[in-house]
Amino acid sequence: MTDIRLLSPDLINKIAAGEVVERPASIVKELIENAIDAKSHNITIKIERGGVNFIEISDDGIGMNEQNAKLAFVQHATSKIYSENDLQKILTLGFRGEALASISSIATTTIHTKTSTTDPILVLVRDGHIVSKPGSGRKTGTTVTVKDIFQKIPARKKFLKSENAEYKHILNTFIKITIPFHNINFNFYNNNKLVYSLKETKTIEQRIIQIFPILKSKLIPVFFSDKSINISGYIGHPSINRKDKSLQFVFVNSRAVSEPIITQAIKTGYGTNLMHNQVPVYFITINIDPKKIDVNVHPRKNELRFDNSQEIFRLIYNVVRESLEKHLQIELQNRLTNTASTPRQEYVPEYNTHTTKSIKTSSPYNFSPIPSNKPISYGKGLNFTKEILLQSQEYTSLIEPEPTIGDTLQIFNTYLLVERNGELMVLDQHAAAERITYEKIKARFQKHHSLPAQKLLIPESINISKQEYLNIIEHKKILSSIGFEFELKPNTLLLQAVPEIITTKNPQDYFNEILSHLSNSGVEIEKEEIRLLNYLISTIACHSSIRAGQKLGSFQMKTIINDLLKCKQPYSCPHGRPIIWIIKKGELEKNFKRKL
Ligand code: ADP
Ligand code: MG
Repeated sequence: MTDIRLLSPDLINKIAAGEVVERPASIVKELIENAIDAKSHNITIKIERGGVNFIEISDDGIGMNEQNAKLAFVQHATSKIYSENDLQKILTLGFRGEALASISSIATTTIHTKTSTTDPILVLVRDGHIVSKPGSGRKTGTTVTVKDIFQKIPARKKFLKSENAEYKHILNTFIKITIPFHNINFNFYNNNKLVYSLKETKTIEQRIIQIFPILKSKLIPVFFSDKSINISGYIGHPSINRKDKSLQFVFVNSRAVSEPIITQAIKTGYGTNLMHNQVPVYFITINIDPKKIDVNVHPRKNELRFDNSQEIFRLIYNVVRESLEKHLQIELQNRLTNTASTPRQEYVPEYNTHTTKSIKTSSPYNFSPIPSNKPISYGKGLNFTKEILLQSQEYTSLIEPEPTIGDTLQIFNTYLLVERNGELMVLDQHAAAERITYEKIKARFQKHHSLPAQKLLIPESINISKQEYLNIIEHKKILSSIGFEFELKPNTLLLQAVPEIITTKNPQDYFNEILSHLSNSGVEIEKEEIRLLNYLISTIACHSSIRAGQKLGSFQMKTIINDLLKCKQPYSCPHGRPIIWIIKKGELEKNFKRKL
């Protein structure tokens, strides 16, 4: 057996460097973080050839005296924590005391530094020894220069990507750090060319726009605060949803982190404002008592753990959903109504007399009357149509004057055209009606936990497979809560009642659609149940709303638009398809070469 030996400090550093220094961007990250922790107001980053050859970070922070500058190179030497207790209240970006030791073990590293009371000093590692000599010509602050990364470790160098790819990693790292520290001036040079000159800004939003001018007027603020947590920042308007995740940023106590629970909460908050292949844009800042998180779970500190991640999920989900709904609702009201000069800022109640009238007369959502080929409901619960009417009347006294919608034109029996405030709006009538019906059914379900059923005159027999049989047993409760009643046998199902609101001629088609959905999606956990319910309600909405190709009168068109204005998510149908397409007057002018 071979003897066990203690590793040399140099080798320990090299091993640790494998965790801390993955690529040049990791070095840039650690050095900028050190400059920020040193209370700098101006930070300059210079890199050459994707950072592989040269990285230099200069700051005007507090600097180091000779003794500290030497200690900085030693593994686990830090000025940021002293005791185990400090580990629970970390507010600096660094604390592990291993960055400089790791970096200097894999690259030629020099520190040139000066404090307000000491002379400049130059410290470097030569043949494994830390040496220092007097520096010259520098103000208070620190410059760390790193050259020849992985020169001595060809195995690691091999894994580096092209200069361009490494450069992109560095840019991403740089951008991530500069956003929460918007009160610091940053200059970034690549191959001696100034790429970013970010002057300090008053707000984080200004810093975001400085870096991504394309996001101007596309950001929706979010804010929540209580004793233990403060959530703020911006989410992107759904019109700028993307396919890639490059504009998603989460900062916890100013540290950029990638935290699946937050990503999931934001995505869920967008709901149907996201198509299935889209992701949102967001910049979310969370300030939380450091005792309630563990930042020490990853060597590069880009992950963390929350003590109560379920609560974090709930808070973020709610703040995103509410901010988005409020914003979109007001935006659409301002767009579609005659109040461009004095934007409406208040909420309108869910239902109003207009809706009531439309149901009584010619509802575009076909809530009633029940089609003649269906028997009259004697299923459980109230008659759904009547109930909606009653609900609407409850709100009558709260109703504000109806907004004036401009003239509406229907084309191809499918799209509604409205001109308003220099914009042409094209609405998909089915998608809009579906959204309205969906929100009404959902509100009804949330209140009563069930939807009324409608008995079929002649029960329908449907052949089912063994798998379908099992799926139905598993979801029997949820299916009956939305109005399906049936007798189940191993090979057949006798459909006796369907949700009252459905107007499709063949309810078994609808039931089959649900069956195939159940076999294609594993519905096991509670979150999935919510998703299933949303699916079921959106399918009901689809089967009970006006279709494309249906001729509408002007009253019906106005009712759709008015009711859409009251929806929580007026821009997308429950399946995530867009409802509205906006064409600006300027775009038309450009197309007709009136304006260039
Ligand atoms: P950590 O940041 O985790 O403490 P580092 O290895 O990154 O560990 O740095 C070690 C120490 O060196 C820091 O705790 C700090 O005291 C000092 N230091 C590093 N960079 C700077 C800087 N730019 N200005 C002032 N002090 C610095
Ligand atoms: Mg550090």
